[in-house]
Amino acid sequence: MSNTSRRKFIISSAAVAAGSLLASSSVNKLFAGANGNLPHSHFKQEPLTYAYNALEPSIDALTMEIHYSKHAAAYCKALNDAAHAENVDVSKTVEAILKDISKYSTKMRNNAGGHYNHELFWKSLSPKTTVPSVKLAEAITKTFGSMEAFKTQFSDAAKTRFGSGWAWLQVNNDKKMLISSTPNQDNPLMDLAEVKGMPLLGLDVWEHAYYLKYQNKRADYIDGFWKIVNWDFVSERFEKM
Ligand code: MN
Repeated sequence: MSNTSRRKFIISSAAVAAGSLLASSSVNKLFAGANGNLPHSHFKQEPLTYAYNALEPSIDALTMEIHYSKHAAAYCKALNDAAHAENVDVSKTVEAILKDISKYSTKMRNNAGGHYNHELFWKSLSPKTTVPSVKLAEAITKTFGSMEAFKTQFSDAAKTRFGSGWAWLQVNNDKKMLISSTPNQDNPLMDLAEVKGMPLLGLDVWEHAYYLKYQNKRADYIDGFWKIVNWDFVSERFEKM
């Protein structure tokens, strides 16, 4: 290689290296809004993997349709609006936002929570009958005494949540499995949650989740929920931990 071509080679190699260093931030800029923050369509609802009427009679089709296409869609939209307004970097996942939620606005808290909780909820339900994996069943039995005792305790947390909120089966940071409940759209991933941890299963007990079919009978909605839990999904989350 002549000196000139060697110099050209070194220069172009350096340019390639600098290019790859810059690549991730350039890609981010490409998808960012005018002032460098997220575009409004960044966070998206995943499509449901079953029809609106697939969970009947536990959850009726109209409730599912309104819940998914209106309520949950509104949380997703408002999360995008908040992320845009609060200059959230495009590389941030919703989980990362939740982990530091005390640094953001109430709008972000309500809607990052609302989006995450509903995305988890849809996947936690299935029209197919499923059962917990051996490992998950063992952990539940060890923690709560039996599967029935677990369901009773979880149902009680869901029934006694005053107003709107969620009941959770979660694993906390020292691997302990427990049941908790949060108000509004809070969840155990939030740094300001009373009982922090990784949610395995969540139940939405907002009236919008059941009122059309069950009216004031939240307990009947909770009984119906146990027939449509996607234990394959919950087991998978547990075993990945
Ligand atoms: Mn809901």
